[in-house]
Amino acid sequence: VESIVIVGAGQAGFQAAASLREAGFAGSLTLIGEEAALPYQRPPLSKAYLAGKTDARGLLLRQESYFAEHRIDHRSGTRVTAIGRAERRVQLSDGGHLAYDHLILATGTRNRALPVPGADLAGVRQLRSLDDADALRTAIEGVRRIVVVGAGFIGLEFAAVCAARGLAVTVIEAAERVMARAVAPETSEAFRAFHEEAGVRFLFGAGVTAIEGEGGRATAIRTADGQSLPADLVLVGIGVVPNQELAAEAGLAVRDGIEVDAVLATDDPAISAIGDCVRFPSRFAAGMPGGDRVRIESVQNAVDQGRCLAARLTGRAAAYDAVPWFWTDQGPRKLQIAGLAAPGDASVLRRIGAGFSVFRFRGAALSAVESVDRPADHMAARRLLASGKALTPEQAADPSFDLKALAT
Ligand code: FAD
Repeated sequence: VESIVIVGAGQAGFQAAASLREAGFAGSLTLIGEEAALPYQRPPLSKAYLAGKTDARGLLLRQESYFAEHRIDHRSGTRVTAIGRAERRVQLSDGGHLAYDHLILATGTRNRALPVPGADLAGVRQLRSLDDADALRTAIEGVRRIVVVGAGFIGLEFAAVCAARGLAVTVIEAAERVMARAVAPETSEAFRAFHEEAGVRFLFGAGVTAIEGEGGRATAIRTADGQSLPADLVLVGIGVVPNQELAAEAGLAVRDGIEVDAVLATDDPAISAIGDCVRFPSRFAAGMPGGDRVRIESVQNAVDQGRCLAARLTGRAAAYDAVPWFWTDQGPRKLQIAGLAAPGDASVLRRIGAGFSVFRFRGAALSAVESVDRPADHMAARRLLASGKALTPEQAADPSFDLKALAT
């Protein structure tokens, strides 16, 4: 392989480029991204950056000089519009073409749009990119009442930042609890209480039927049960869809994500895919409703897949087998998740001091651990899941049981 082209200059695409150079790849390396900025981290967009505690420079994965020094041709503001698999070249939005020996798709996801009338009114916003975050930082300056649609990670992080600024925040959620797709009822319950103490109001089991406006601006949210909630700003956080059209149009298999095998290859051996946009086989997903293939949206997954692929392309192929982990900061609380829980997994509570962890079991096996202000439990959980060492529910619940000793 002499030339590698990476589509998408986000967390995964950047990591693949950096790891390829670290592993000694000496060929040509092009990193194409449609966003204007240098590759940056998204997590602070809904946390420190939104709260004004860090600036745009603080988000960058590397400063500008890094790219020239490592001969990474970063082309910002450029979109790949088609893949010519027979000729092995991509078509660019600026009219040019670029040849590759190996192509890496790291196109990430985009926000799901709220499918109701009024969703395009001014004052209805989403949060995915630095541009979105800049627009939101300005927008929250002049408002008082905020409605967040969706009690997922980003909606709750946003709600926490706004509540801390003294704004009136209501979160509308279709499910009966917060973060319902991802965490145990016990964890949802704790976070609902944290947010309510900070002044956030919740409406559960509530569907949004329309956004009402005046003069082109959103003024209220209408719910299925007939309520109209006044809002100066609406943040929609109802999940994402993978950017898989480029792959699908090139005839690659897609199904809620670009399909890849255990070494992150697509059905074309000259094309691999990594990060939020891929569905891959994982032992951690065994017994989950979707079968043993998953699509994961996390920094850990983007970074570890970038590294795994770079290793394969430089002669050290290995199956991708990293333990999934994730974090979210909501106000002063930190939630860390190791592993992958399915909705029906059992919960065992372990409480020590102010924090606690919920250990999830699928059958007899530990599937995931949700730790709230318990970083030591989280680190032990990552090691336990990696090794596959057995932990019983009784041990998990016993605060005197030495988790760390078992894990090491
Ligand atoms: P992305 O980082 O989304 O990068 C994909 C890039 O590809 C984008 O820049 C996109 O514009 C570009 N692109 C797409 N198609 C094309 C094309 N055809 N041509 C050129 N460029 C293209 N994860 C955590 O683990 N913890 C957190 O606390 C956390 N907080 C988050 C907060 C926010 C607000 C957001 C949005 C995400 C958060 N995440 C968090 C998730 C994490 O940021 C993602 O999992 C990670 O960025 C995925 O990396 P990626 O490279 O796969 O996709």
